[in-house]
Amino acid sequence: VQDEPYDFLQSICLMMWPTPDWMDALPKLANGYGQNEPLAAHTTMRIGGPAQVWAEPQNWDEVAQLTAFCHAQGIPLTWVGKGSNLMVRDGGLKGVAAHLAKGTDKIEVNGNRIYAEAGAASGSVARAAREAGLGGIAFLCGIPGAIGGALRMNAGAYGGETFENLKRVWFVTETGETVEKEASFCKPRYRGTEIPEGWMYKAAEWELTPQDKNEILAKMQEINRARSTTQPLSMPSSGSWFKNVIVTNDNIDSLLKKNLQVKHGDKLNAWKVVDAAGCRGHRVGGAQVSTVHCNFFVNIGAVNGEGAKAADFESLSQFVEAQVQAKVGVALEREVRWVGEDDSES
Ligand SMILES: Cc1cc2nc3c(=O)[nH]c(=O)nc-3n(C[C@H](O)[C@H](O)[C@H](O)COP(=O)(O)OP(=O)(O)OC[C@H]3O[C@@H](n4cnc5c(N)ncnc54)[C@H](O)[C@@H]3O)c2cc1C
Repeated sequence: VQDEPYDFLQSICLMMWPTPDWMDALPKLANGYGQNEPLAAHTTMRIGGPAQVWAEPQNWDEVAQLTAFCHAQGIPLTWVGKGSNLMVRDGGLKGVAAHLAKGTDKIEVNGNRIYAEAGAASGSVARAAREAGLGGIAFLCGIPGAIGGALRMNAGAYGGETFENLKRVWFVTETGETVEKEASFCKPRYRGTEIPEGWMYKAAEWELTPQDKNEILAKMQEINRARSTTQPLSMPSSGSWFKNVIVTNDNIDSLLKKNLQVKHGDKLNAWKVVDAAGCRGHRVGGAQVSTVHCNFFVNIGAVNGEGAKAADFESLSQFVEAQVQAKVGVALEREVRWVGEDDSES
């Protein structure tokens, strides 16, 4: 996203933040700071207003200083990984938005263990494990985020999850200290973890099982093939919009009435209920339910030049949620994370 021209941002990035009075007191970073950085350039959906202040720390001392400063001054600090699960509202983000730059992406293999820092791309970690003949995290190859985001979201695909085989994690706390914890400390659940307010993921270590490199390669190729045939990968998106649906006593009767073959405790693909509610292809402004995979919302406005707003995606999501509730009797929960402020002008 960052390498593409910024033209598509002009129409959506009207809002501007004033220079904050703490600007000059920020700790020095080698990369300096930006102001009113358009976050649409840092999300795969290409949506989002500006960050009041934008930071790209390139080592852990810089991360620690920035975190401690923001905490001490009461300044909101939002971590932006590769922005592949993030929806930023049109009014942008107040305070500091920070992205881990090169220098925070170390990957080390040690016997059966692989250690990766939060700035490393998930795909690079999967490939390093393959090169070392270690199986168990091949699924990370097709997830277009960084390890920090994979940990925060407990990202998963094709039967694997980030917290499976994960032994230890390291954090930078709100006061800038590094602490190490067992993986269970993060209370991993389906597409989520719980960590103390103000802490950020610094690194993680998995204990994996030796596996033939060619077998791992074949698995990755199979995953990539499956993705490219079932997902709208040529369109800007945030991956799965809704979490899959857990079948319970409350929803099983209405799901069966819609001819969805389920049993109690199943995890039903969210696209099936979106489809059953007739929402495939539905459009609000520049936001559309993908016609290829209807648990993907896509930014059709960025592609056809008409532009799209975060507000279009909010309206589209509310529409789909209401249709699914009314027609299929299921309350959908969003997987994408929303941050930032609404645009007061819209
Ligand atoms: C085409 C496509 C396919 C996808 N397929 C999958 C899939 O199969 N499975 C799946 O699970 N997801 C999938 N996703 C969603 C997304 O890629 C994952 O959730 C990914 O792990 C997010 O990583 P990120 O670096 O982009 O995080 P971001 O989107 O930047 O951030 C996600 C959240 O993590 C927080 N965060 C980021 N870094 C840190 C840190 N260091 N410490 C603490 N919090 C942090 C952010 O503040 C935010 O709340 C897909 C997305 C796309 C666009």
